[in-house]
Amino acid sequence: MAGKAPEEGFTAEPFVPERGGLPALRRAAADCRGCPLHRDATQTVFGAGDAHARVMLVGEQPGDQEDRQGKPFVGPAGRLLDRALAEAGIDPGQAYVTNAVKHFKFTRAEPRKRRIHKAPTLREATACGPWLAAELAVVEPELIVVLGATAGKALLGSSFRVTRVRGTVLEEEIYGRRERLVPTVHPSSVLRADDREAAYDGLLSDLKVAARALG
Ligand code: SF4
Repeated sequence: MAGKAPEEGFTAEPFVPERGGLPALRRAAADCRGCPLHRDATQTVFGAGDAHARVMLVGEQPGDQEDRQGKPFVGPAGRLLDRALAEAGIDPGQAYVTNAVKHFKFTRAEPRKRRIHKAPTLREATACGPWLAAELAVVEPELIVVLGATAGKALLGSSFRVTRVRGTVLEEEIYGRRERLVPTVHPSSVLRADDREAAYDGLLSDLKVAARALG
């Protein structure tokens, strides 16, 4: 798919301003009604970081903490990612981090009970794609690190399988631009793994490939 066109009537496209850089995009995204996910979430969680970052990290969607704070990767998975990035030789402070989907999708077992993460559908990720396309057009990163299956499918199509391509440097046309990408797992999968140490080592090894690709 590589930047597949969103379906009519289910897209962020009309909400995306043509100019104004990241501040204008962030302001406009706060009012996005491009798909139903804005209804239950607290707020839009737009990307954050260096507007001239050499590397852009793309995750799935905001988690519970991110939804409350309005910032991406501030919860436990974000802390683990920062540690792995630093260990791989990529300064987390010089990266731009964002998600394929900008609103938190969740379910509750019972009213007032803890919110449980629910994976967004490809339709929702595609609807949200115009925000990711706009971020890529402004930041123009040298490399995209794809964190997990949802981000991979949003950027590279529904046939994307993280296990097949993780830790490799891909070159693909994404939203009309030639991009280099290194896929890996989402850091939350490391936190859920039975063998956390092995899962962390796998993430670190993939991020080292990204660090080498950046030179
Ligand atoms: S998930 Fe994306 S497309 Fe859907 S309302 Fe939120 S910002 Fe808009």
